[in-house]
Amino acid sequence: MHFETLAVHAGRKPDPVSGAVAPGITLSTVFARDVDSQAMGDYNYARVDNPNRHALESCLAQLEGGVTAVAFSSGVAASAAVLFALRPGDHVLAPLELYVGNRLLLNNELTPWGLQISFVDFTDLDAVRAAVTPATRLLWAETPSNPLLEVSDIAGLADIAHTAGAVLAADNTFATPILQSPLALGADYAVHSSSKYFGGHSDVIGGAVIAREDAPLTQRIRSHQITAGGIPAPFDCWLLLRSLATLPLRIRTQTANAQRLAEFLTTQPAVGRVHYPGLPDHPGHTLASQQMRGYGAVLSLRMRGGKPAALQLVSKVRLFARATSLGGVESLIEHRASSEGPGSTTPENLIRISVGIEHIDDLIEDLRQALVACMEP
Ligand SMILES: *Cc1c(COP(=O)(O)O)cnc(C)c1O
Repeated sequence: MHFETLAVHAGRKPDPVSGAVAPGITLSTVFARDVDSQAMGDYNYARVDNPNRHALESCLAQLEGGVTAVAFSSGVAASAAVLFALRPGDHVLAPLELYVGNRLLLNNELTPWGLQISFVDFTDLDAVRAAVTPATRLLWAETPSNPLLEVSDIAGLADIAHTAGAVLAADNTFATPILQSPLALGADYAVHSSSKYFGGHSDVIGGAVIAREDAPLTQRIRSHQITAGGIPAPFDCWLLLRSLATLPLRIRTQTANAQRLAEFLTTQPAVGRVHYPGLPDHPGHTLASQQMRGYGAVLSLRMRGGKPAALQLVSKVRLFARATSLGGVESLIEHRASSEGPGSTTPENLIRISVGIEHIDDLIEDLRQALVACMEP
């Protein structure tokens, strides 16, 4: 079935008792047993599994084309589950350009725990290959990356990982399964922050790991979910399943808007580079055209006037909300280095934009007036 159909139907069926078409929210933490103390249905205790999480995981597994999905209370909890499924002493290769939260997770939590981590340029397959050691067990890719929208070759990275006896996990948050299928390209795990496009309305934090195979590592990720307990609440799962129904529509509109906005920004004298894989001069454009079905709805731009100009532009917008994060129906703008805080390696003149579903003319007009306002003394 096609994404549009799966997004609406996967993980859903009318309630067998009431006939309700929209799913209910099962808040119960406990599920009763029969007189012989046997489970009456599929559930026992809600940390282990519950109907709303089950439905969400079923939908996500089908959208990503995996055998199973494991849902978490946040995107970084999903990342942590993959990393803690490794063993102390194992070596991980991660990209230099990496979502700041996952960098903190690797450096502050997993390194003291015993993982060895090397950061390399994931857009350069030779550099990645050269960084593999006999202890390498996992390659962690993020494509397109945050915040420079770098594109790395999932099939090429999977090849390197498998030759080394390692696995490849790909953070597919920016692309979503609508635009990119890491598992079909050879990755072993697709990892998501559900807080972004899956939720799509900036009102739920969540994460997920989708596995290509029911391997021992997959079982350890499932075990980490249940045993370490970073599970999403039933209401969050319900919100996410509800939002996933419109994921293909939102992504289509947001991606079309982002392309138009990126093209507009390239015509503006105050703007230097525009980082968007849909622009033909983006270094990852050709690769993105091969491995993606669209270029996504996050873009970054560099102001010629440096940090002061970047801060000024962000201060002048009226329609865009000045906020971090991405993937919601509303357009957001941020001075990325300010959001990342001390230790950020993001260029000071960089502004990141998450493009929403508003009318494109209104979005362009807002940035046009902000750029004009910046020019005034
Ligand atoms: C936001 C984000 C995460 C982390 O997700 P949370 O839900 O905030 O924990 C991971 N990867 C990428 C690419 C992200 O943008």
